[in-house]
Amino acid sequence: MELKSVGKIIESGLCAFCGACITVCPKEAVTIDSDEPTFDSEKCIECKLCTLVCPVINRGVEEIPTLASYTGRTLLEEVAKVAQDGGVVTTLLIQALNEGMIEAAIVCHLSDKEPLRPEPLVALTKQDLIASAGSKYVSCPSLSSLREIVDKYKSVAVVGVPCQVKAIQFMRKRAPRYAKHIKLVIGLFCTESYPYTKFCDMLRSKMDVDPSSVVRSEIKHGKFSVKLSSGEIHSIRIKETKEYARKSCLYCGDFAAESADLSVGSIGSEEGWSTIIVRSQEAKDLVEKAIASGLLEVKELSEDSKSFVLKFVSMKKKRLAKELPL
Ligand SMILES: Cc1cc2nc3c(=O)[nH]c(=O)nc-3n(C[C@H](O)[C@H](O)[C@H](O)COP(=O)(O)OP(=O)(O)OC[C@H]3O[C@@H](n4cnc5c(N)ncnc54)[C@H](O)[C@@H]3O)c2cc1C
Ligand code: SF4
Ligand code: SF4
Ligand code: SF4
Repeated sequence: MELKSVGKIIESGLCAFCGACITVCPKEAVTIDSDEPTFDSEKCIECKLCTLVCPVINRGVEEIPTLASYTGRTLLEEVAKVAQDGGVVTTLLIQALNEGMIEAAIVCHLSDKEPLRPEPLVALTKQDLIASAGSKYVSCPSLSSLREIVDKYKSVAVVGVPCQVKAIQFMRKRAPRYAKHIKLVIGLFCTESYPYTKFCDMLRSKMDVDPSSVVRSEIKHGKFSVKLSSGEIHSIRIKETKEYARKSCLYCGDFAAESADLSVGSIGSEEGWSTIIVRSQEAKDLVEKAIASGLLEVKELSEDSKSFVLKFVSMKKKRLAKELPL
């Protein structure tokens, strides 16, 4: 693929806004913008690093075998109140901070400048983690934060959707300076995300909702729902949201963040619980320590739930057959 590919990906509206190219570019030719990065061809020296780590350009999915799978939920009340599902992600990050496995975690919180605008956050405390719990369905360029922390911390965790987990895998091989301090990667199950502008358009035009009144968003049982500060709930069928989704998602074949140390999602679990797929021994130890510390409870994932998750995995893999329209 040609050198200017990241520029081309952005120009074609195919960028997943993972943030990896922003971190690895040695010339700051790719910078963060509202719904995708901005590419400055004048600054570009055509070193190809961005092309090598971009998860849209490098489309394959490398699977790591599963070590264990559970359904779990937090035992911390302050996490359960704000988490998306079982609060597993936030609880495991708290455990990782408590035991010194990590010094910081890259997560995603809501901006205080614009309603529902997600921003990457380098969380250093339990309070930071709790404040950034919950799913933001607007894409958040979290990997752009790896640049600012590269010389600050020796051990970090990153939470990301599958395209971001994939970019980390490429960074480990092709731009290791920015990935060498990553000790834990937590992936989120994902079928699609939305650019900020389109997400707000969808709320206003399809759902008659003012973005500033939304206190929680949820995708469950084939519906996208928002809860408003008044307590009202507005829902539409997930099918109706497709036209607002990121174009990159139409070509993305990874549902379960197949190369993360562990992945977490809602499908396969009861309300208030999360499905957990563990792939590394370090992640398995972390889960066991969180249980032993009284922060988390888990049960083995049933065979039915495993098959249900696998159905989504194979449904999404079909998207890989589609050629990128470049
Ligand atoms: C865009 C998106 C699509 C999803 N689609 C599905 C799906 O189709 N099926 C399914 O089963 N699950 C899906 N999930 C995962 C699900 O919504 C929950 O995030 C997951 O079950 C973990 O719940 P929890 O209570 O353990 O997490 P919490 O304890 O609430 O923690 C969530 C963590 O994710 C981080 N985060 C939130 N939004 C983002 C983001 N956009 N980018 C990076 N990090 C983020 C938060 O900062 C926090 O650290 C999706 C999540 C996202 C963000
Ligand atoms: S090719 Fe190199 S210099 Fe150009 S945008 Fe990509 S990383 Fe930056
Ligand atoms: S998908 Fe990620 S690496 Fe590729 S162009 Fe977009 S932000 Fe850059
Ligand atoms: S569907 Fe794929 S490209 Fe879209 S946000 Fe999810 S992981 Fe990223």
